Amino acid sequence: MGENKLKKFFGVTIAILVLIVLVATIFVKEAKILNNNNDSSIETKIENQKEADDNKKEPSQESKENPTVPSDTKKPDDKKPVEPEKVKPEKEKPKQPAPVKVKPMVALTFDDGPHPQYTVQILNSLKKYNGHATFFVVGNRAEKYPAVIKQISKNGNQIGNHSYSHKELTKLNEAGIKKELTKTSDILQNIIQKKPSIIRPTYGSVNNRVKSSAGAPLILWSIDTLDWKTKSKTTTVNKVVGKVKDGDIVLMHDLYKPTAQAAEAIIQNLTAKGYKLVTIDELFAARGVKLQSGQVYHNAYKKK
Ligand SMILES: [Zn+2]
Repeated sequence: MGENKLKKFFGVTIAILVLIVLVATIFVKEAKILNNNNDSSIETKIENQKEADDNKKEPSQESKENPTVPSDTKKPDDKKPVEPEKVKPEKEKPKQPAPVKVKPMVALTFDDGPHPQYTVQILNSLKKYNGHATFFVVGNRAEKYPAVIKQISKNGNQIGNHSYSHKELTKLNEAGIKKELTKTSDILQNIIQKKPSIIRPTYGSVNNRVKSSAGAPLILWSIDTLDWKTKSKTTTVNKVVGKVKDGDIVLMHDLYKPTAQAAEAIIQNLTAKGYKLVTIDELFAARGVKLQSGQVYHNAYKKK
């Protein structure tokens, strides 16, 4: 090897070494930069976390403010009490069709009174069993026994119009019909400060003239005990107890002792069977039926 060649060799070797050193330096620098980047990325991560924490704190502060915002979420809550009200009718709805919960109802009605003894006896029986009934009174008898009229009303029973002198309304002209009804109506107004809102036509006789002149609903019946005819307690009781059903209107007369006795047995029996004894108004109100003037009603059976 010549001297020149040696110089070249060393020169190249030095150059290579310098290159290696340069490259190594660059690597180390880049490695440091990378590390720095990693550090900074960690720092930014920490910063981000801090920010995130701050954000978490801020929302928590917002959530303190949110009680006003949740007031929006409370608005639905406020609406919820409204919704439960909407739900309530749904809860009530099943109650209406549930025949078990709603007691069957019967309206006992007594015509031709009042009677100072038997009407009072019937009133006592009704009171004993927390029942109500309707008394279709005759005006000239109401005049005689105003105290009984007052007692009927005071006990929560209903009083209906059964004419003034028990004339058959179908045999009267319009003026005659109105006179019979108005007279009784005025008498009752004087005694209990209330006019009767329903009429029981005498003998159950109705024609178009009676309907148009009545000025009130005409209440007939679905069970006729014929108590006035048999004057038998047992027969009267059996007429009712054997075949009574929800919505029936029972006809009796509070002028007779056997009727008063039968009434007590009937009231006791029906109450024990779970019937609610109601007035005519209560019966039809329970059915959602608004009684119409001049219209005839025989019962309040449920429509199927
Ligand atoms: Zn009568």
